[in-house]
Amino acid sequence: MELIKPFDPWRSSLCSCPPKYSLSAYTGCGHGCLYCYASSYIPKFYQPRPKKDFIKKLRKDAAKIPPGSTIAISNSSDPYQPLEKKLKLTHQLLNILKNYDLKINLVTKSNLILEDLGLLKEIKKILITISLTSLDDNLSKKLEPNCTLPSERLKAVKKLSEFMPVVVRFDPLIYHLNTKDIKKVIRQIKEAGAKQIITSTYKAKTDNFKRMTKVFPEYLELWHKLYYQKGMRKNNYIYLEENIRKSLIEKARKESMNVRLQFSTCREGIQDLNTANCDGTSFF
Ligand code: SF4
Repeated sequence: MELIKPFDPWRSSLCSCPPKYSLSAYTGCGHGCLYCYASSYIPKFYQPRPKKDFIKKLRKDAAKIPPGSTIAISNSSDPYQPLEKKLKLTHQLLNILKNYDLKINLVTKSNLILEDLGLLKEIKKILITISLTSLDDNLSKKLEPNCTLPSERLKAVKKLSEFMPVVVRFDPLIYHLNTKDIKKVIRQIKEAGAKQIITSTYKAKTDNFKRMTKVFPEYLELWHKLYYQKGMRKNNYIYLEENIRKSLIEKARKESMNVRLQFSTCREGIQDLNTANCDGTSFF
């Protein structure tokens, strides 16, 4: 298959996702998140473009994919990024895939997804993942400049939850920048109707660290010390030292348990804290 590929995050030994496929209509992403990891391995990442002959190729791939497969849409670009407004390729993609026996997991930070609500309701096996880092709109404007504001994303969680399972990726947790309100954020996610929290800590890459510290220079010294002096290198990412990571993750887990949300971590190497599949797919 040309477009639908087995999900393989660089063969990371830390990935605990069940087998699934990955599909995206776009290369690159226009949301501009400072912490994005995909920008380090996709050329001209911040100049998003549609994949060539996408619909034609997708029709061929869809006929070959094994029935019952799970497809994540998508892992390294947002299916409802600004380009979707004009090109509607994700919309067309769903119109094709709804005719197959597949489990579809849409992952987005955009409330543009609500324009497809009618179509999403037609898909038999669907799981929505909404990502957010904070419920502070002003912080989000700096951190994810072209994304739907978190307050609107929360409304999308609420609306979508009326019809289908929704999980929330509350990540990345960025030391002190968005970790003071973990409790409050998780409570509001629960109130909006989500079923699971997926979280992870921010991992430094050369390019994302430059973007982050340019916009938040007040954190340069602290983050440099935590990542480049005390942190640890794993699979080409720099992680916070283990005790700090664990304390942040455990705080999020504790609050998730308090409000009866399923909980999982992503690529942290502490899967024993998970209460459901790390990617939310227990809800299919
Ligand atoms: S929405 Fe996802 S893929 Fe797009 S810039 Fe943000 S983190 Fe990267």
